[in-house]
Amino acid sequence: MRAIDVHVHPSTRGLDCDACAYFRRELNEVPTTEEKFADLFVAQQVKALLIGWHPSTVKDGTRNSNEHVIELVTRYPAAFAGILASLNVGSQPVAELIDEARALLENPAVKGFKFHPPDQNFYPNDRKHYELWELLEAGNKPVMFHTGFTVLGANQDGGHGIGLDCGRPIHLDTLARDFPRMKIIAAHPGWPWQEELIGVVTHKKNIYVDTSGYLAEQLPELFQRAIRGRLQDKALFGTDFPYVDLEKALISFDKLGLKDPAKEKILLANARALFGI
Ligand SMILES: [Zn+2]
Repeated sequence: MRAIDVHVHPSTRGLDCDACAYFRRELNEVPTTEEKFADLFVAQQVKALLIGWHPSTVKDGTRNSNEHVIELVTRYPAAFAGILASLNVGSQPVAELIDEARALLENPAVKGFKFHPPDQNFYPNDRKHYELWELLEAGNKPVMFHTGFTVLGANQDGGHGIGLDCGRPIHLDTLARDFPRMKIIAAHPGWPWQEELIGVVTHKKNIYVDTSGYLAEQLPELFQRAIRGRLQDKALFGTDFPYVDLEKALISFDKLGLKDPAKEKILLANARALFGI
C-alpha cells in the first residue's frame, strides 16, 4: 500500500456536476461504475475511506448513503479500507441520530464519521449536539468536519442557502476542548481561514487535518509549511475524489519536496494509526 486517501466521495452516486465544473473535471474522466471506481484505487495502490454523505445540491439520481459505501467496502476490500459515515445532524432529532450512530459504531466497516457543517447548517460546537458527540467520543472513532470554503453553492445567488460561517475552524477548537478524547479531523486547509485552522490544529492535540480539495502544490503556502514541520504527525493525505483526481493528487504530493519520514507519515502512517487500518 502506497497511501491511504482519507477523503473520498464515491463517484458512483451523489456526484455534484457543478463541483466538477469548478474543479475543471471532465465528467467522462470520472468513473461511474463500481468496478471502474474501485480499479482506479487498486491501480494506484491506494486504499480509500469512502464518505457516506449526500450533498444537498444533488437532487437527481440515487442518493449516496452509508449503506451504499458499506456495500462498496464489502465488495472491493482491495480498494476501500472502510467508510466515514454521515448523519443528518441539524435536521433530524438527536435521539434518532443517537440510535443510528450506535448501530454504525458497531459496524467494523465504519472507521469514523464525516459531517459538512455548512451544507448541513449546524455549528459543531452547538451544545444541542453534545449528547451525540458524547456517544461518538466514547465510540472512539475519529470524526471529520468540513472546514472553510465549499464549492457547493459557489457562485450561486445566496450560495444556494449555504453559509460558510458554520465551517470556520475556530468552532472545532471549542469542540476539541469540550471533548478532549474525541479525535477530530478538520477536512481541507480551511481557506480562507487557513491561519485560524493552523492555530487550532497546533493548539489542540486531538485535532488533525487532511490535505483534500487541492493538488498539494496549490495548498496555501502557510499550510504547506505547517505540514512540513510541526503538523507532520497530524496531517493526513486526502484527495476529495472525484473532484480531485487521485493520480494527479499523488504526483502533485511528490512535488511538495517533503523529506521521506514526513511524506511517509502523511501518506500512510498517520492515517494507519488514527483509524487502526
Ligand atoms: Zn469532500
